[in-house]
Amino acid sequence: MQAVQTMKVNFEQNQVSHMVEVSHDDACMLMYKHKHPSERFSAIDLDPYGCPSIFLDAAVQSVQDGGLLLVTATDMAVLAGNSPETCYSKYGAISLKTKCCHEMALRILLQCIEKHANRYSRYIVPLLSISADFYIRIFVKIYTGAIHCKKTTSKLAMVYQCVGCDNMTLQPLGGFKSNPTEKNPNQMKGFLPTGPVVGEHCVNCNQKHHLGGPIWTAPIHEPVFVSRVLAELSSERHCLGTRDRIEGVLSMVREELHDVPLYYSMDRLVGRVHLETMPMLLMRSAILNAGYKVSYSHASKMSIKTTAPAQFIWDIVRTWERTHPVKPAR
Ligand SMILES: [Zn+2]
Repeated sequence: MQAVQTMKVNFEQNQVSHMVEVSHDDACMLMYKHKHPSERFSAIDLDPYGCPSIFLDAAVQSVQDGGLLLVTATDMAVLAGNSPETCYSKYGAISLKTKCCHEMALRILLQCIEKHANRYSRYIVPLLSISADFYIRIFVKIYTGAIHCKKTTSKLAMVYQCVGCDNMTLQPLGGFKSNPTEKNPNQMKGFLPTGPVVGEHCVNCNQKHHLGGPIWTAPIHEPVFVSRVLAELSSERHCLGTRDRIEGVLSMVREELHDVPLYYSMDRLVGRVHLETMPMLLMRSAILNAGYKVSYSHASKMSIKTTAPAQFIWDIVRTWERTHPVKPAR
């Protein structure tokens, strides 16, 4: 009741009382009352304590077509691989302990929202997915369209993680390819990919794999949306105390390679074989010189997101090892 009272005072101070309605009700019940298309909300922001999954069924039904759904999750231990069993029961996916666990957490939450939406022939389009401090926050648009739901499996993958060198390999759940006919030259159809994509033993270190996921593998940000938010921020109309930080994070997000899921971590790459730390600049130029793309992820300073194959990254590490031999144990 205290919270409701505070909200009322807040609305009066901001002179928006005439357009805001305060409700002191079960959040799910409130959303279910608005699931009829004429009653839907243009935006829903779920910011619960811990895991948001119990609110998703109601939320995906009560956002307008093209409307915005914002979701925060603070149960990072579960999403980051400390409790894969709990992650499965809450989010329907196995989390893995890995250096890129923050992006993996975002992708687990996205597949969870998509799964809930698909039940009602709806689907998500991610606008922005942020990992910050000890929580993650996701901005997606929700649309209706059964035909688009058929593409969902092509946006999901299981993840093989080598228990030795941490190498991650994606096993897609589905594919979608063009299937032109005379009547419909733009026709597409789904297909089942073959697998497994890894052998019994890792090609880099000969160890076995864990299997996690499924995770969302389609883009997690919409570059045009991110640029628009950045432009809005620089228009000086807002007096936000955290503006510099928001600009910093969004600029990183805009530079991310959008079609490359997950990333390597420099400390993990060289840490595994107890090497001297390799300068990030050197790694990045080696990748660029070979004609591959590389970027950071906003989720980690040590991240290396790249189109280069795993084999190539390990070749760079091995070359570094030759020129900077392992430090003798003290
Ligand atoms: Zn390995």
